[in-house]
Amino acid sequence: MDKKEQMKKLTQEMLACRKCALRNGCRQVVPGGGSAEAEIMFIGEAPGKNEDEQGMPFVGAAGKFLDEMLLAINLKREDIYIANTVKCRPPQNRDPLPEEKNICWEWLVSQIEIIKPKIIVTLGRHSMNLFLPEQRISEVHGRALRRDVSGMGKQIFFTLYHPAAALYNGGMREVLMKDFKKIPKVLELIKKEQSEKQPK
Ligand code: URA
Repeated sequence: MDKKEQMKKLTQEMLACRKCALRNGCRQVVPGGGSAEAEIMFIGEAPGKNEDEQGMPFVGAAGKFLDEMLLAINLKREDIYIANTVKCRPPQNRDPLPEEKNICWEWLVSQIEIIKPKIIVTLGRHSMNLFLPEQRISEVHGRALRRDVSGMGKQIFFTLYHPAAALYNGGMREVLMKDFKKIPKVLELIKKEQSEKQPK
């Protein structure tokens, strides 16, 4: 099966998931969206009201700003893949609980295993702390970090503030846009490093 078919199958499995109580309180599962062949995978926190209604990630105000930032580096939704730490909307948009994130972790790992992204961009501290529990977003935003994550292997992460933060704080908009614009250069460096490692 190619990546597209594998993701289609996984998506069907996620849509049928009833492993935690979040599913009882939401309208539908929001598995993720974009290309299974993407080089860049974005991981947000959890679906909100709009995402719960439409079944797609980042379709509300934060998603609009995400699209603006993607456009600034010449990317569209079809070029990337976006997922969340949990696939169902928590009641009243509360933070996902540790046990909810634990239960949903296996879906996220399966998505990452299929895509094999060259870089994972974490959106916000909840997403970052899943992979980099020791880091503080105020210290590492806009930086690429290499980690060997248990159950996942070696991966490069690029940490960003959550796009929703820019909706309440104008200064954050500029910080996010500046960090975001570093992504193409980081990706280029990763590809260069990987091509140099290939046996000639
Ligand atoms: N915020 C998130 O973290 N994820 C979404 O899908 C939408 C808003």
